Amino acid sequence: MLKQRTLKSLTRAVGVGLHSGQRVELTLRPAQPDTGIVFRRVDLPEPVDIPISALAVTDTRLASTISAGGAKVHTVEHLMSACAGLGVDNLYVDITAEEVPILDGSAASFVFLLQSAGIEPQNAPRRFIRLTKPVEVREGEGASEKWARLEPYHGYKLSFEIDFDHPAVDATGQRVVFDMSTDSYSKDIARARTFGFTKDVEMMRANGLALGGGLDNAIVMDDYKVLNAEGLRYDDEFVKHKILDAMGDLYLVGKPMLASYSARRSGHALNNKLLRELLSRTDAWEVVTFEDEKQAPRGFAQLARAW
Ligand SMILES: [Zn+2]
Repeated sequence: MLKQRTLKSLTRAVGVGLHSGQRVELTLRPAQPDTGIVFRRVDLPEPVDIPISALAVTDTRLASTISAGGAKVHTVEHLMSACAGLGVDNLYVDITAEEVPILDGSAASFVFLLQSAGIEPQNAPRRFIRLTKPVEVREGEGASEKWARLEPYHGYKLSFEIDFDHPAVDATGQRVVFDMSTDSYSKDIARARTFGFTKDVEMMRANGLALGGGLDNAIVMDDYKVLNAEGLRYDDEFVKHKILDAMGDLYLVGKPMLASYSARRSGHALNNKLLRELLSRTDAWEVVTFEDEKQAPRGFAQLARAW
């Protein structure tokens, strides 16, 4: 049987929120089968649980925010991406502020945390959402058109295309395909950092945003070039970060998917719109388990070792 997975032991991290600049402590704890991923605001007078779901996403401007019971958590996508990439199904995320720490701006620190706590199989079948028909969302027209699509696929594959019209971004690869069965999430995707432009950062700061952002947790560009002295971590780091974000955004549906995702110029808002469209199209998917691991897509039974 292809099993659900959680952590072997708890693990902690301390950092600052990208937008709030606030210090925040994160504790990742093992959870029982079928718990899913649950964020818990432990700083409130009464702790509030916020289970992930596509419908719990209440704000997608800059980052993905989830809410429940009057409480919220911003910027969940990089931690969610690491959970998707490493195949973690059940987890409590205790958090002491309303934003997940940005750490180094990628998912690499979360991958390190999850791997050092250890990942443990549980005695319950892993449930996948398997696409049986394509589902698509679109916005805008012409050069500014954005779209995101899910199609049937025996595995999990993402392909993303960006188009920023910026010399530093245009000089890099702007299209990437990542396949869970053949590529390595922790090596190929997890290290890609978030990115921003100095002119936007100035405007965001004036509005009380990006207060925790800087050269140690983002790729920062002026009108012409990358300002980080160390340069890029991958030749195509920008579009790889968009794949990282998409994996996190899509994992908010609460189950891993068997699908091929493709997108052009998508972001947190359109990714969530795609999930909502998927959930409303109950004819386009089914939930499946694998009693025989050999029936699962290649590499899915060996997640921990392969990734
Ligand atoms: Zn991101």
